[in-house]
Order: sequence, then C-alpha cells, then structure tokens
Amino acid sequence: MPPAPKLRVSLSKRMSKKSKSGAGRELVMNEKQGTLSAYGARFLLIPVKLIHSIEDRLTESFGPVTATSFQYEIGREGGAQYIHLAQKAGFNIKTPSDIQRIASSLGTLDGWGKLEIIDFDPTRKFARIRWKNGVSVRNRKGKTPVCHFGRGILTGAVGEIFGSRCESIEVSCQGKGDSFCEAIIGEPREISRLADTRP
Ligand SMILES: [Zn+2]
Repeated sequence: MPPAPKLRVSLSKRMSKKSKSGAGRELVMNEKQGTLSAYGARFLLIPVKLIHSIEDRLTESFGPVTATSFQYEIGREGGAQYIHLAQKAGFNIKTPSDIQRIASSLGTLDGWGKLEIIDFDPTRKFARIRWKNGVSVRNRKGKTPVCHFGRGILTGAVGEIFGSRCESIEVSCQGKGDSFCEAIIGEPREISRLADTRP
C-alpha cells in the first residue's frame, strides 16, 4: 500500500512557496505520524471549548484575579514563540505592514480572530491592536474584558519585537458588548499610568 499522502493546506495565497529559510508556511497534516505542522513547528487543532474549560478551571481553583494573571502570562510566552516562528519562516518584522502581515498569517489564519494593527511604533514602544471574534468571548454581557489569554499573546509578541518587556490593557472588549476588542501595549510604566487614569 502506498504511504498516506500528506495533506498540504496553503495558509495564504501569497505563502504557497517555501520561505528562504525553508520553514514551510503551509499547514501540513501528516496522517501517518498524527501530526500537524506549519512554519517549521508542530501545531495542534483543539476545540475552542477546551480553552474555555482551562479558563473556567483556573477561575474555580484560584479565583478570577489569579486566573486572569495565569492566562495573561501563559499567553505572553506563546506570543514570543509566535514571533520566533515568524522569524524562522522568513517574515520581516520592521514596518507596521510587516506586523500586519504576521498578524494576518499567524493570528487570523490560525483562528485567533480577525486582527488589525491600528498603531505600531517601536521607537515609542507603543502598539494598539484591534481584533474581532477572539476565542475567549462567549457572550456580550460581561462587565469586564475577557481576552486575557489573547491579550497576553499579543503582549508577548509585541515585547519580543520591541526587545523589551511590555504590559497591556484591553480598552475595549466584545465580551462586554463593545463592537471589537482592542489592546494598548507598551512600557509597563506607561501602561500602569494609563490604567490608573482611565475612567
Ligand atoms: Zn476582548
């Protein structure tokens, strides 16, 4: 019997060819090995409800404040890893349009939601990123933002590009009825100043 064919799914129109570094910018399903890979790394397709179960378990076991912090910090690690993948896959990370390209490929096409770079300024170490359909939004009725995991990923990614530790606040969230989610990401001092002066 011939070996099971690998199924290749192009992750975007412009990405069907291999990058200079050889890391494939396409999703490869290897049925024989039971693996999925893209950008030279192994990926996993999981139901979003599993993310919700993790969020719920963290909240039940540790309370909302600690659960938020766990999700944010775990996300931050993941965000730095996404940038390493982008670098290996040969993406440029200099201009705001480079960043939008990474967000569209590794964020939006991976299913994290529709991402839009509103502001990206490495000199001021400041970024504003908007998204819709984030994985943590389950209804529109909350009193506070809910996208701690996603905001962590964005913060880790931006910090990795700026080369310095960043913090963030989610200033708008679909989980509390806003029409989109938006995070402001910047230097820790600037972000805590913003957090203190917000109404
Ligand atoms: Zn949100």
